[in-house]
Amino acid sequence: MITKFIFVTGGVVSGLGKGIAAASTGLILKSSDISVDVVKFDPYLNIDPGTMSPFEHGEVYVLDDGSETDLDLGHYERFLDINLTKHSSVTAGKIYENILSEEREGMYLGKNVQLIPHVTGYIKECFVREIPRDIDLHVRIIEIGGSTGDMEGEVFLESFRQFRQENKADVLHFHLGFVPFLACSGEYKTKPMQLSTRELLRHGLQPDVIGARYSKQGNLDLPREVLEKIALFCNVSKDHVLSLPDVSSIYAVPKNMLNSNLKLILQEFVGQTIDPKLGDFFDHFNGKVFYSKKVRVGIVAKYSRLSDAYLSILESLKIAGVSLDCKVETVFVDAEKIEQNDINEWNVVKSLQAMIVAGGFGKRGLEGKVMAVKYARENRLPFLGICLGLQMAVVEFARNVCGLDAVSSEMFETREELEGKDVVIDYMEGQTNVHKKGGTMRLGGYDCDLVPGTLIHNLFGVGRIRERHRHRLEVQQEFLDLYSKHGLVVSGKHYYTTNDGREAFLVELIELDIKLHPYFVATQSHPEFLSRPGKPHPLFKGLVENAIIYGEDV
Ligand code: GLN
Repeated sequence: MITKFIFVTGGVVSGLGKGIAAASTGLILKSSDISVDVVKFDPYLNIDPGTMSPFEHGEVYVLDDGSETDLDLGHYERFLDINLTKHSSVTAGKIYENILSEEREGMYLGKNVQLIPHVTGYIKECFVREIPRDIDLHVRIIEIGGSTGDMEGEVFLESFRQFRQENKADVLHFHLGFVPFLACSGEYKTKPMQLSTRELLRHGLQPDVIGARYSKQGNLDLPREVLEKIALFCNVSKDHVLSLPDVSSIYAVPKNMLNSNLKLILQEFVGQTIDPKLGDFFDHFNGKVFYSKKVRVGIVAKYSRLSDAYLSILESLKIAGVSLDCKVETVFVDAEKIEQNDINEWNVVKSLQAMIVAGGFGKRGLEGKVMAVKYARENRLPFLGICLGLQMAVVEFARNVCGLDAVSSEMFETREELEGKDVVIDYMEGQTNVHKKGGTMRLGGYDCDLVPGTLIHNLFGVGRIRERHRHRLEVQQEFLDLYSKHGLVVSGKHYYTTNDGREAFLVELIELDIKLHPYFVATQSHPEFLSRPGKPHPLFKGLVENAIIYGEDV
């Protein structure tokens, strides 16, 4: 068995789409029947992005094993249709945490613990961790986060240099850099790319392939002379410089990369011919994209100007839309503005054919979310509540239909403030006194049994599903009978045994009786992490399907 490694680095600027380029390279190989996986290294010192604000970091992407990771892992899982694990996401924080705890245990007794060889040694171990051994040819793609020249990335580059030295024939180094266009002289400029490659050379790294990313000026592709100049000054052959313009969709990138010389380069690297079949979904994004239908879906959220914070929801809607030949236009609705009765924001709500109330943390905007849910319920607007969205749907129903003085304990700072109120959403067992924030929620994949005969059971068409989670609060069960009398039923439960040996369940999915509302569903999980191109998640597909019907009715 052979394992080959493709290292992807980036330079000049961040935000070049290194993750997408890496995922697309993986897809080209995987769709040629080659086994592929991914490891992403992030040079920051957080153990994981779980404690970072979406402003800092965008969405926290949760893996089945409960790891809280970078949103690039989402691109990898979606492009490659695989489930990654904690070994696929390594931060500098995680590396130092491990080394320092080993140091405390005495594993380095008598020794100086140093960047080289200890940190580099640990990073090199991560390069080869959990490689499948039973496959003839496996390709591991390793993305080094950040840009060349970042001080915190240096130890990763040094580890890579050593690894490459030790495994020359099995390593391909793909460096992606930006080629700016200078409007005043009307030219693309290669100097930043040259400098970023020179920075790699300073680390003893000579890239094998250069990906020249650029924003097309009118119809002007990178001229041949520019590509040749990059080849000359970056020390690679001309056919190893790829011209990679911006494209209209991330799903058009794999085809676009195939249009360059990448296929031949990969064939040479893996030592066999490859015949990539990207599949209908990716083919759909080649050239101009047409849809026969269109709907407008609102995402009621707190970070409403920050689409990266809800990236997987946006991708899930797109994926569902493609499967129904429907363009899904998404608009963000600011929950706080709804709360303040901002007319413009309410007008947006009134223009929707479907609503999602997204996940989130903290009390800001919660009342606005409850108001938005009320609108969706009363107007039979197709609705999907996600995690916090389910919790606010329960508060809304308990208040406005069942007449309870319903709250979620997340709406208040102290337990005293909850006195006398009907706490319909509260912390799960064991979560009330959790003060440590990192990695302490209910995280990752859990099984869920669907209640036969429910709308959700019909959508999935199976009795048991597995969904990913990231939460601390849950639906309180003393009011379930009351809800069901009024038409809100539990359609999915996670069964478990409590610490003191009792059989118990957690409410995972709810829905409104179909007689009251055509599509009002909510989940405690994050279904957005399970959508895959060509395989829409049933809850998103159901939402878009119903949005189309709602649009036709109006
Ligand atoms: N804040 C809520 C909880 O912890 C919802 C979390 C979420 O939406 N991911 O339960």
